[in-house]
Formats: sequence, structure tokens, C-alpha cells
Amino acid sequence: MKYQNIYDRSPIFFQNFMATIYGYKVKRNRYGKTYYDYLKYLDKIHKYSREELETLQFNELMKLLNNTVEKSKFYRELYEGIDINSFKSIDDLKKLPMVTKEMIRQNIDDVITIPKSGASVGNTGGTTGKSLTVYNRPEDSQKRMATLDYFKMKHGFRNMEMKKATFMGKHIVPPTQKKKVFWRYNAAIKQMVYSSFHITEENIPYYIESLNKLKPVAIDGFPSSMYDIASYMIRNNIIFEFKPLAIFPTSETVTTEYREVIEKAFGAKVRDQYASSEGAPFVWECECGNYHYDITTGVIESMDDSNEVLVTSFTTYGTPLIRYRIGDSMVFEDPSKVCGCGFNTPLVKSIEGRAIDFLYSTKGGKISLVNVSNIFKYMPNTITKAQLIQDSLTHMLVKIVVDGDFTNRDKKILTDEIKHKFGNDMKVDFEVVDDIPREMSGKYKLIVNKVKL
Ligand SMILES: [Zn+2]
Repeated sequence: MKYQNIYDRSPIFFQNFMATIYGYKVKRNRYGKTYYDYLKYLDKIHKYSREELETLQFNELMKLLNNTVEKSKFYRELYEGIDINSFKSIDDLKKLPMVTKEMIRQNIDDVITIPKSGASVGNTGGTTGKSLTVYNRPEDSQKRMATLDYFKMKHGFRNMEMKKATFMGKHIVPPTQKKKVFWRYNAAIKQMVYSSFHITEENIPYYIESLNKLKPVAIDGFPSSMYDIASYMIRNNIIFEFKPLAIFPTSETVTTEYREVIEKAFGAKVRDQYASSEGAPFVWECECGNYHYDITTGVIESMDDSNEVLVTSFTTYGTPLIRYRIGDSMVFEDPSKVCGCGFNTPLVKSIEGRAIDFLYSTKGGKISLVNVSNIFKYMPNTITKAQLIQDSLTHMLVKIVVDGDFTNRDKKILTDEIKHKFGNDMKVDFEVVDDIPREMSGKYKLIVNKVKL
């Protein structure tokens, strides 16, 4: 019998036991000597001056480039005729061609520099359909874990030592289960995993009860799940019996609306980071609320004439991703600006999210997910969920779930907001539905772009 089958047929207490056993196995792989050494190293380099950080970045880049040219057939051929050892600064990286996900996928066996067996296997975030499987050195995965945990430590949270609640799209609740228990405990790292699939108006009170009992020190995972619970609490005037140190969203773009509602209900700051996917350097929010472009983890370049970025991550030795077109967009701060927190990296003004996270105006202009979500700012709390589906440049279907009435006045305000953002010739239809299901991944989609240009 497969693991999932045994799990599905076991009582809940045994499922918790299995989650913990599995947790210990993962813990051993993820948190080895490299992890702890790297935490100490991070403590040192976070005190560096900008100049020292830039030197470190250039040295790390050269190490990665040399190793890649030596061991990856794909890159060796791609870079033929370019003398990497003549590079003097990060800017010289521009002499190399960029790579796309399709190029890497089609040539994966020539790209990788390590044997697949024994590698730590991951997926890069996908902007379009299929995701890319990457093979990395276990020590690089440990470095990434350390960087992520170090970021959380800056906000007072110590991973594995303090309790956390994680919202994710993991199938932990067997389809036949009748009990209203939508979470499992992984004692190995003091983590309660909450299923994102079962968060409905009917089930939310059970989630709240469980969270109150757990009293997590931090909350992480899908912001859309946290938002659903937070919005329920605010609508029903419920207050949590605990206050987490911070909230660490992952995997989805954090909209302004998400941030405001989550912070209000949980009584803690949302601290965002970018780079959960394997292929990207880290950008993370410090205690001052600024986004740091962590140049010790890689290089992020803006593409000409757009905010789209190319990434080079220093933890991709196994499957080098160099000048990789990841599909995300970012706006950088003036490079001379320095944050008061003491980590002297450049700063990022905003992370615009993934390329699929936008809809079109009737003139074909791109309107980002964050921007779209602001449409609902002035709407009453009776709208509990919404989804905008654009099927042509001039037509949009808005699905909404309401708790109470959806009045003609609400409809008019929303239509005006949409026309204001997308153009007066946008035709808007509304459909009130019972629920808007999540994706297979457990993530929630506020916008669906079906326009073929
Ligand atoms: Zn800072």
C-alpha cells in the first residue's frame, strides 16, 4: 500500500504521528551542519558595508559561473566565445545571453552539473502551465532554508523552536473524513499544518478554535487562506486569544487588501518575502518594513524597458539558472538608498508579482493583481470572495460570494471602479455564486486572464 493510502485509512492521531515521523526525516535532510554553519555566516555578513556586500556578490557570481562552465555542457556551449574570466563587475553579466524556462527544460540533462540521484529535487515557480523540475546540491537547499529562517529570526521567530501555523495546499484531510479536523501536527518542527482546501464559511469557526488552542508564535503559508479567516473574524467581531510575532506569507502575491485585513485580524505585521521558488535570489521585508534585495543570495537585473527581471541565484549549482527569465516583475528603489535596520543592501520598492497576475485594460494595458484587488477597497464586507474572469479585451465576468445581500448600489460602485481602471467600454457581468473553489494546488485565484492577444 502506498503511503497516502495508509495515511488516508488511519485515525487522526496516527496521521499526526505519521506527519511527525515524516517531519523528522525532512528535518534531518534540511537542517544539517551546513544549515547551522550558514546561520552563523549570515550573522557575520549582515553587518557588512555596501561595498563589502558588493564584493561578496561579485565573488559568489564568479564562483557560480566558473563551476557552471566547467560542468554544464549546455552553458559551456551557450557561452562559447565569451571570456568569463575577463569579467570585472556584476554589470559584465549582461554579456551573457538570458535563458528561459523552455530552454532549461528541453536541455535539462545537459544543464545539470550533478547526478540526479542524491540531489535535492524542487520545482521553480511556474508562470505558465508546466513547472520546471530542478536538481540541487543538498547543501544549497540547506543554505536556502537557513536564509529563510534567518529572515524570520530578524522578526523574532525561531523556526523549529517556536510553534507555527502553516496554511498550505497539502492533502492532509482524507476525502472520507467526517470530523471537522482540517489540520495535522508535525511535532518534529512544532508546525500545525492547516488545509487550505477546507476553508469555507461553515468550517472557519473550527479553524479559529484550533488556532486559539495552538497559540502559534508565527503564521505562514498562503495569504489567501489567512485572508479568508481574517475577513470572517472582522465581519463577525471575533478576536483571537493570541498574538503572533509576525505573519510570513508564501507562494502567492500579497495584495494591499490581504495585508490590511490579515494584520488587523491577527494583530501582527505581515512580513513578506520573495524567492520561495528554487530559482530566485531572496528579497525580503525587514523590521523597518523595507524590501531588501539580498545581493548575497544572487543577482536580479531589470530587463530593458520593463520591470520584468532576470535572476541568477547563488544556490543553483546543481541546475544553474543564470540570467533566468523567471517571469516576475519588480521596481527597485534608488540604489543609493540605505535602510536603517543595518543590512546595507539595495532596496526594492515593490514586487509586482508574476506575469500571469494581471488583466488587460480595454486598450491592452496591463493591470496588475495588486491593482485589481484595490477595486474591492470600498466595497462592504458582505462580499466574502471574488474572482474576475476576463475573456476578451472588453468583457469581464465578476463572480462573487456574498454573506447577505448584493445590492444594486454595490453593483454600481463595483462597475464604476472596474470601468475606472479598465476603461469605460469594459462590459461587466456579475454572477453571485455559493463558492469559488481553489486551484488544484490549493492556491486561490482572484483573477483569471483568458484573453488571447
Ligand atoms: Zn531594513
